[in-house]
Amino acid sequence: MPVQMTSITRRVLLLLPTTTYRAEAFVSAARELGVEVVAASDRPSTLQAELPEHLLTLDFLKPDVAAREVQELARRRPIDAVVPVDDLTTVVAAAIAEALGLPANPVQSAMATRNKAIMRQLLARTGVPSPRCTALSIEDDPGTHARQASYPCVLKPLILSASRGVIRVDDPGEFVSAFHRIVTILKSPEVEALGDPARQILVEEFVPGWEVALEGLLIRGDLRVLTLFDKPDPLDGPFFEETLYVTPSRLPAHVQAAIADCTAQAARALGLREGPVHAELRVNDRGPWVIEIAARSIGGLCSRILSFGTGMSLEELILRHALGMTIPSLERDPEPAGVMMLPIPRRGILTEVRGKEAALVVPGITEIAITTHTGQEVVPLPEGWRYLGFVFARAGSPAEVEAALREAHRRLEFEIVETS
Ligand code: ADP
Ligand code: CA
Repeated sequence: MPVQMTSITRRVLLLLPTTTYRAEAFVSAARELGVEVVAASDRPSTLQAELPEHLLTLDFLKPDVAAREVQELARRRPIDAVVPVDDLTTVVAAAIAEALGLPANPVQSAMATRNKAIMRQLLARTGVPSPRCTALSIEDDPGTHARQASYPCVLKPLILSASRGVIRVDDPGEFVSAFHRIVTILKSPEVEALGDPARQILVEEFVPGWEVALEGLLIRGDLRVLTLFDKPDPLDGPFFEETLYVTPSRLPAHVQAAIADCTAQAARALGLREGPVHAELRVNDRGPWVIEIAARSIGGLCSRILSFGTGMSLEELILRHALGMTIPSLERDPEPAGVMMLPIPRRGILTEVRGKEAALVVPGITEIAITTHTGQEVVPLPEGWRYLGFVFARAGSPAEVEAALREAHRRLEFEIVETS
């Protein structure tokens, strides 16, 4: 009689903030892998009543409560991995994983990545190069601090992302107006809900240099570099649009090695141990400096240009690691590739997008995804945090990738009607 093979379906809990761009990529990677998905969001879904075992609502701002709820559910339907997909859910993911006894980052470490003042303290304590900083309360008198500051410096919120509210200032006058501008952002209701850290502003020394982003995976505390992106636009402020990401990096091998070392030290300083890391560093004649390290993978739709081994997506790689499955390869397909996050040029209503066909025929361009709908309000930096969309390219060299992205951007026209 043939032996009956019982295959055990694995189940992953995906923590999907309603605002994330990352849901689709993770859900389809899970489907590819034949893994069952339980999707948790911070707002109830209309389908929840019909799929109570697959969809749940969790308060991501109350990690302990969320962890207890998932523990309850897991008694009936065991969960094999918890994946946060985005910055907003890294802390709650760590708390849930701890409650379920799954290998993950310690809650304190995830929290440190979500609070730039704590992150800087931990980096400084272990001597990881990172800008000097002071945290101010939004109640402080900015004039007094402006007189004492050294210039240029950068003012930023502790808890936001996507460069929202990050402003370079060159003199006391700019300091005071940037301070007030950030206070206004911090007083918006959805930001105030983030609690005490949303009542502080960090003042950092400005680090000049070439910026890179390292995409890595921590496996039992060991950092594996998945790819290093150059950000070839000069990012000198006053606002810091992400725009271009191009890989492989054009930096010399020894500089890339120093960046990897510095990122590994930063992960250790924070106590991060498992799963994806996305780190931003600046490199100058004094070596690499950590701007920040997050316990998540690259944001937006950017991961679409990455593929590992024979066509594995970044999300599949992350799910395999979280589920303890074998990872066939951590090697990125070596073809130079890049993405441009299309910046929002001014505030208004997006009424029309032209030039997509002309942009798509630029040699090297593989895809253009416009993620903003016409009729939608768009808000530029420093108050905004979304992009108009994403342009993807592949070519024979990083310079050609960069040129293709710039040419495609030049051909795209966004009609934005100002609102009063
Ligand atoms: P966020 O979490 O919003 O992305 P970051 O701290 O990463 O905030 O800052 C966003 C961008 O602003 C960085 O990628 C970098 O280009 C620039 N930046 C931030 N802090 C500094 C600094 N101290 N010196 C120079 N540039 C900085
Ligand atoms: Ca950042």
